[in-house]
Amino acid sequence: MRLRNVTGSREVIAESPYVVQEELAPRCPGRWREMFGNGNSIHIEIGMGKGKFIHTMAKEHTDINYVGIEKYSSVLIRAVRKMEAEALPNLKFLRMDAEDIAKVFGAGEVDRIYLNFSDPWPKDRHARRRLPSREFLARYGVILKQGGRLEFKTDNRALFDFALDELGPAGWEAEEVTYDLHGDPRLMEGNVMTEYEEKFSSRGAPICKYIIHPGSEMYENR
Ligand code: SAM
Repeated sequence: MRLRNVTGSREVIAESPYVVQEELAPRCPGRWREMFGNGNSIHIEIGMGKGKFIHTMAKEHTDINYVGIEKYSSVLIRAVRKMEAEALPNLKFLRMDAEDIAKVFGAGEVDRIYLNFSDPWPKDRHARRRLPSREFLARYGVILKQGGRLEFKTDNRALFDFALDELGPAGWEAEEVTYDLHGDPRLMEGNVMTEYEEKFSSRGAPICKYIIHPGSEMYENR
């Protein structure tokens, strides 16, 4: 995502009721349902960008609690503006690097994780920064409840192939894999397009998607 410094974004985010403020984050693990004021499932999107996907999902699924995570204030501000225009009680935001995700959610607290059009980090030496890397899968495996799943979409075939290769070493298993999501009516059911998905699919790029879960050994060793 092209990053422009958006003047005042840090200040707006620091004041926003839709953002769980950084100083509160260490108190969050195990308390997300309490923070939403209900016992509903928790679904999170990591690297949500401007928030179209998660805002639409929260609107369509009012019985699920959503948390959108984004590293940069200059991007998160766009999602905050969407909430200012149309506030949803079942959506909250966190501005943070996903590296620290297991410090913010408790073990098994999250029911589903979405990764959409994650940054590819094409250089080999940056592989650990890719959100579907084995290092990140290990963190997701801690916070995901048994029976939970992770869904990943991308137009980037090299990143998708890398992500598939990471599953075995990370101890995760694939439930669904497609190299052409938009050509698969079954997997397209209920699909909500992200900003990047709209851009790339309108140019004719095929969209890859997998749905995965940790292997049973991971829970036994937890
Ligand atoms: N998910 C959106 C979509 O599909 O339109 C945005 C995709 S954009 C290519 C990737 C986003 O992930 C960027 O907004 C970036 O700042 C964010 N991101 C990348 N690495 C991150 C990390 N470690 N923690 C949190 N957000 C991250």
